[in-house]
Amino acid sequence: MRTQVGIIGAGPAGLLLSHLLAQHGISSIILESRSREEIESTIRAGVLEQGTVDLLTQTGLAERLLREGHVHHGIELRFGNQGHRIDLSGLTDGKAITVYAQHEVIKDLVKARLDAGGQILFDATDVRLDGLESTAPTVHFRQGTKFQSIACDFVAGCDGFHGISRPSIPAALKTEYERKYEFGWFGILVEAPPSSKELIYASHERGFALVSTRSDTVQRLYFQCDPKDAVANWPDERIWEELDLRLASDDGWRVKQGRIFQKGIIAMRSFVVEPLQYGRLFLAGDAAHIVPPTGAKGLNLAVADVKVLAQALDRHYSAGHNEALERYSETVLRRIWRSEHFSWWMTSMLHRFPDGDPIQRRFQLAELRNVTTSHAAATMLAENYVGLPMV
Ligand SMILES: Cc1cc2nc3c(=O)[nH]c(=O)nc-3n(C[C@H](O)[C@H](O)[C@H](O)COP(=O)(O)OP(=O)(O)OC[C@H]3O[C@@H](n4cnc5c(N)ncnc54)[C@H](O)[C@@H]3O)c2cc1C
Repeated sequence: MRTQVGIIGAGPAGLLLSHLLAQHGISSIILESRSREEIESTIRAGVLEQGTVDLLTQTGLAERLLREGHVHHGIELRFGNQGHRIDLSGLTDGKAITVYAQHEVIKDLVKARLDAGGQILFDATDVRLDGLESTAPTVHFRQGTKFQSIACDFVAGCDGFHGISRPSIPAALKTEYERKYEFGWFGILVEAPPSSKELIYASHERGFALVSTRSDTVQRLYFQCDPKDAVANWPDERIWEELDLRLASDDGWRVKQGRIFQKGIIAMRSFVVEPLQYGRLFLAGDAAHIVPPTGAKGLNLAVADVKVLAQALDRHYSAGHNEALERYSETVLRRIWRSEHFSWWMTSMLHRFPDGDPIQRRFQLAELRNVTTSHAAATMLAENYVGLPMV
């Protein structure tokens, strides 16, 4: 097989990159280690920045998103049993976030690629990259019992944190920055109507909690936990008790309960690799960086990366100019580090640190009061939350 860009991974990064390249007349083949059913049913992110929605709309991918997504103009920060609204739209000239589940984005992207005759090879295992330092790299893989290879001009490593692309860069030519957090998130999916019109980020002495939503009938709730804890330790009653405690509000508001149909624990880390390029290999999305989910940035960063990469590849093919490709890493790293810092800042402000001394909690409360009373501080949060420009 032969294509211009070999894409490893059919997550948001790989699928959107393939779509954007096709719009520039550039061919690609996506290799995905899982099945279509699996990638379309894995529950992950749910908050889309304004720039993500705009890009999906401009490139013809947002028909269902605009119909079924929920636009939110604010979020609530809750502490000391009181809610404080951050007016996202009022503070950012009308920008907003849209709540639309990541697996729905995946379904839309897969359908768009396949309808347009795009090639996604599912269940592709044993993927191996070869000749990355040459101008003709090759991607080797196996489907069932058949070993195959694809000759490409470029390879896009969009295979997430545990993929093979990043490890294909020699250790001496990359630097990895990492922070692991001593807490994680316990996430549940609940059959219930929304508990509130906007997301609630609660900082409580017992730990963080988040009231999020997926649809009119399915809600996504999280609370901070020990990442080494076991789901089995959390029967439904204990979960509701903990959420009630952490989300307590003086106005009598209570989270709406319902049948819990999924439980899981997510570990949290901040991670960036530099640079995001090695020869003809370009990394994008979680393959290159991870953020704790508090800032809702992971999926949006993946989108921002591939927007820049698609433009740079277009410059190469349409005009023979390589400067944008050579600057890809430097360009996206500026936004990546901004989002990494924002995600770390939101995480630090809202979570209980297991070994935190009493002064830590006082610092957090001072920060929360500042963000909810200072126009300048609230604007900083709002600008970052709805998303900074995607270059
Ligand atoms: C539980 C959870 C909750 C999250 N919540 C949020 C949130 O609320 N907001 C937010 O913005 N972000 C959130 N994130 C992060 C967000 O989901 C990711 O940042 C996003 O999926 C990144 O997209 P990606 O395409 O870079 O990588 P991925 O979505 O990880 O896609 C990579 C793809 O590559 C495939 N792959 C891996 N290895 C190989 C290989 N060797 N060969 C071929 N294919 C391979 C994988 O199967 C996968 O389909 C969450 C993540 C998790 C895990």
